[in-house]
Amino acid sequence: MLLKRVKIPRAADIDVAVAHGAYSAVAAAYDMRPLDVIDEVKRSGLRGRGGAGFPTGAKWGFAAMDPKRPKYLICNADEGEPGTFKDRIILEGDPHLLIEGMIIAAYAVGAERGYIYLRGEYPAAAELLDGAIAQAYGKGLLGNNILGKGVTFELSVHRGAGAYICGEETSLIESLEGKRGQPRLRPPFPANAGAWGKPTVVNNVETLANVPSIIALGSDAYSKVGAEGSPGTKIFCVSGAVNRPGAYELPLGTTLRELIEASAGGIRAGRRLKAIIPGGASTPMLTAAQVDVKMDFNSLLAAGSMLGSGAVIVMDDTACMVHAAAVLVRFFEHESCGKCTPCREGTGWLHQVYSRILKGGARGGDIELLLNICGKMKGKCFCPLGEGAVQPVLSSIRLFRDEYERCIGKNGCSGASCKGMTHGKNYQMTSAESRAISNDQNSNTP
Ligand code: SF4
Repeated sequence: MLLKRVKIPRAADIDVAVAHGAYSAVAAAYDMRPLDVIDEVKRSGLRGRGGAGFPTGAKWGFAAMDPKRPKYLICNADEGEPGTFKDRIILEGDPHLLIEGMIIAAYAVGAERGYIYLRGEYPAAAELLDGAIAQAYGKGLLGNNILGKGVTFELSVHRGAGAYICGEETSLIESLEGKRGQPRLRPPFPANAGAWGKPTVVNNVETLANVPSIIALGSDAYSKVGAEGSPGTKIFCVSGAVNRPGAYELPLGTTLRELIEASAGGIRAGRRLKAIIPGGASTPMLTAAQVDVKMDFNSLLAAGSMLGSGAVIVMDDTACMVHAAAVLVRFFEHESCGKCTPCREGTGWLHQVYSRILKGGARGGDIELLLNICGKMKGKCFCPLGEGAVQPVLSSIRLFRDEYERCIGKNGCSGASCKGMTHGKNYQMTSAESRAISNDQNSNTP
């Protein structure tokens, strides 16, 4: 449903895309009333693919409530979750699938203006999208009186400047409005007061790319694919210690084992599976013993993690979990927008503690200190970034505490007990990490 055209040569060309079925669902949707399109999406059970898993039809319904107010449709293409590259495949491989989904979504909610908020680091996608949008205007699929049905929808690309936080929908809206990308207090939710105070639907690329299939197949047929509470397919991005890293579209509910072994070719030669991050950097880790978990919203929640963006990061027995958590913590520190104290200070403190552990300067009680800092962040941060930042710390300590104790007990990993792992006595800090340590030694932070 999602990757059907990406391997077709020149699928970004509208004539090629149309020859392979693109835009056929637009006319079918226009033959329905907008509220019936929303009902069809509700019945399909489609849930947002950006990470939160909110029911898409319900979100559209909230925005469409007042037909007299102008509305906006925004595609969240600010794909920045570490390990995630699914939206990029659609944007570069089949941009007309996304545009078709947006035309239908805009008709359903009554939006006459749409934006694709694109990650700044995707210049190739920007060029392809601009070309695809121009072609769609040329064919009368965008603009005024689309297909002669009296419907208007104007669409353009807005490029971000490289901030991870702008993947959070209210920060994205702030950035789109020309302000600093920082989250807004909710409520009001964007569906009620979003861009420029108007009802706004923000949907992820992959979410919108599902819409043409729902209209073309019908909600009954669509919802038969996938798992209970998680209908449809999902693009899983598999990276790390596998033989065939890549993006695989599979029904939700496929087991992690099938994904790793059948699709991604298994663990790279001679190694054993050790840990998996199943849904991007802000989802809790799983161990090898949990490899039979089903990859859907409810099953992963029951297993103590989340589906997130579907970015599956696979680690084998050469990975040091202390180092892995440190890398992720460094990312969140760098991307914290600084608006709220628990996240702004907490991510920095976590990074400082990890840096000294890896450098060989661990202090007794550093595990408890990491847990203490997480406790002061969890449930107290303004937006999901801070909440996500503690997940690699908490889950790695819960599942691999012995590795932390080994690192700290030896006053830094000697390399002997971590033979083959990714750090040790030869661990080289970045200059930024070194500066953080020296700043730490001169301050009263942990
Ligand atoms: Fe900004 Fe972090 Fe607070 Fe979110 S949790 S508002 S990213 S400082």
